[in-house]
Amino acid sequence: MQFSFCPTCKSDLALNLDNYIACTDTSCNFIHYENPTPVVAAIVEYGDNQVVLAHNKLWPPTWYGLITGFLEKHEHPDEAILREVKEELGLDGKLGKFVGHYTFKRMNQIILAYHIKASGQINLNDELDDYKIVPFDKVKTWPAGTGRALKDFLESRGYEVEEVPFA
Ligand SMILES: [Zn+2]
Repeated sequence: MQFSFCPTCKSDLALNLDNYIACTDTSCNFIHYENPTPVVAAIVEYGDNQVVLAHNKLWPPTWYGLITGFLEKHEHPDEAILREVKEELGLDGKLGKFVGHYTFKRMNQIILAYHIKASGQINLNDELDDYKIVPFDKVKTWPAGTGRALKDFLESRGYEVEEVPFA
């Protein structure tokens, strides 16, 4: 979130000595910490040893990625990721192992990546307009938080993975 004025007292904002955006009124304590936003991401294993990569409507045509989403208020990440898989792919997933946490600096996000097992009929929600089912030994990963998570996961399963730049 970005502010033009202090959201507490409407005074001007400026960088403080710790380099945070802060209120210039010394009687006001507002500091804009810009804490990272947690995001859950799913490596959806569909059947055995293949992953579902989905295409968001807003992305360039060649980009396919993991299922991701924000946590709802008071929601545990383990629940959030199963909810996102259900909402975006229409699949009832089974929670696999937690893969790890990854930073996505451009968006100021911290990504919590999970392995999810799922099967059944895929029904995309309206955020997505396409998907691919890719065998684990054919996956190429991308240089961002979710791509690194996928690479770590595949390497933990014994695959050699090539990371390719965004095209
Ligand atoms: Zn203020």
